[in-house]
Amino acid sequence: MTLREHIQVFRRAVKWMSSISRRYTLLLVVSSSLSAAVVYVPIYFSARVIDALVARAPVGTALFYAALTVGIVFAVQLLNGFLSSEKDAAFNMVWIKEEWSYSEKAMQMAYRSIEDPEVTKLRYRTRLENQTGQNLFYLYRDVELFTWQATKIASSLALTASFFTVSSVLAAWKLFIVAGVAATMAVRVYVTKRLNGLNRDFTASSVHMNILGECFNDYIGSYEAGKDIRLYDMGGFLADADLALNREYWGRNLENSYRKAAWTVPVTILDAAFKFGIYAVLIYAAMQGGVSTGSIAKYVACIMLLVETMANVVETFQKSLDNNHYLQRYFSYFDIPNTMYKGSLTVEKRDDNECDVEFRDVSFKYPNTQAYALKNVNLKFKVGEKLAIVGKNGSGKTTFLKLLCRLYDPTQGEILLNGVNIQKYDYEEYMSIFSVVFQDFNLFSLMLGEVVASSRDFEEEKVRECLRKANFGDRLEEMPDGVRSYLYKRYDRSGIEVSGGEAQKIALARALYKDSPFILLDEPTAALDPISEYEVYSNFNEISGDKTTVYISHRLASCRFCDKVAVFDEGRIVQTGRHEQLLAEGKGKYYELWNAQAQYYRRESRP
Ligand code: ADP
Repeated sequence: MTLREHIQVFRRAVKWMSSISRRYTLLLVVSSSLSAAVVYVPIYFSARVIDALVARAPVGTALFYAALTVGIVFAVQLLNGFLSSEKDAAFNMVWIKEEWSYSEKAMQMAYRSIEDPEVTKLRYRTRLENQTGQNLFYLYRDVELFTWQATKIASSLALTASFFTVSSVLAAWKLFIVAGVAATMAVRVYVTKRLNGLNRDFTASSVHMNILGECFNDYIGSYEAGKDIRLYDMGGFLADADLALNREYWGRNLENSYRKAAWTVPVTILDAAFKFGIYAVLIYAAMQGGVSTGSIAKYVACIMLLVETMANVVETFQKSLDNNHYLQRYFSYFDIPNTMYKGSLTVEKRDDNECDVEFRDVSFKYPNTQAYALKNVNLKFKVGEKLAIVGKNGSGKTTFLKLLCRLYDPTQGEILLNGVNIQKYDYEEYMSIFSVVFQDFNLFSLMLGEVVASSRDFEEEKVRECLRKANFGDRLEEMPDGVRSYLYKRYDRSGIEVSGGEAQKIALARALYKDSPFILLDEPTAALDPISEYEVYSNFNEISGDKTTVYISHRLASCRFCDKVAVFDEGRIVQTGRHEQLLAEGKGKYYELWNAQAQYYRRESRP
């Protein structure tokens, strides 16, 4: 990193810190300067006590200094105790805000970034580095350390300044002390740089292991994986894999520690030799006279603290520079741009339904892939119509929905709503016209009403109505707390466990509650039993009302209920038309799929 980059990162970090909590920073400064300064109170007054005793002053004088020492230390400790609880409370807020900033960023990112493995890796990595105390947390620690060290240096200098004016001590000895402090610092600068380099290399080479370890922990500890782990007896396998990973990690960690020790041991020896030199100089000064006994004790303590603290400053400063590498990566996560083009047009709401949606020669490739998931798709349907999408797995049906609701933009071609490219509409407003149920929907463990409304506030009657329409009415009746029941048992012992089919019904109710003009459903009945499936499709008109509905279905019989069917095959639309019309053709993909399913049902119904 260049100096300019260091300054930029540092400035940004300071801004970030003050936006998160100024109060916490202030508390750190006050409490650490107080704890550093209080160390010097006994040093200063002990010198006074010794001098008073040597001068045979009245005992009251020595006792007065002793009382002052104890009193001041006691008052500072009392104040710091209070500040410490304030600090803990402020830190909790910092932690919550910092965590939230990740979630907020994830929600603001373009969907394609969320699916990008590089982004996932960056997110994992920066979060792991946070947990090891790097990034923003290190910076807070820096504030604390620098304040502490600055106070100690200032106090040490203030209490030793008089030593340099003592005429009986040779100038060469005074110079020895100054040169020694400078030399110790220079050695520390070099060694700390080496140690930081070793640490950085170790962290970089362990990223993969750390991420894998984290995934193991997440999986082993996750509620959802509990059943699979037990039924497939995966415990032993997971434990072995985790153990092997840990062994490798700790083995490399040990190697790294040896490498670091090769640098730290010589520095410690040098430090010790220098400290002995200082003692020798001061003993010599005392023997020459001109310095009081109390002052000698004070100088020894202060110069030792000064040397130690100066060396610590170097370490802190270099670690702080090193942390800038982590911070740079940390900020790069927050800098991931939202690449979706965000238009500004208002989505026109027309009551006459005289509007249409058109896919015009749309092709699409997922990021970092070569194959087209959709190729030259052309399709037009009217707003208010019900469109069914059918086709084999992997033929591009879900991708079609993702493009329609702008989770992705086409690689080529355009999608038009009322003749206007959908990219030109205000992004948030355009997204809001869709209620979508994808197959991999996720329901959070909140109150059922909150889940359906996707909000803390919900209209109870509307929630009930939507759940009834989604065929969840009977189950709802059985629940003692109704829409106020908690979903799953993650946070509430009395929470309700729902089956995959029931979860799908709740997801459908959530889409209905949103009451958007477009409903997009990716196999809305895939997890339902045949009776529930029949009921959903029988009520389909009531469920979808006059809304534009696009749904992917594997049950071709359900296509009877819609105005148009689009048949997908290998990323292309190979047929469009009404159900009866496509069957009447007597050939083609739809006819093939229909016959395959019909044969299956006929075979199943034989005695
Ligand atoms: P369908 O819904 O018809 O089963 P999809 O639209 O999900 O098919 O997938 C179409 C093609 O795109 C498949 O080949 C699938 O592997 C690929 N695909 C789907 N999602 C992704 C993704 N996130 N990244 C890369 N390829 C994907």
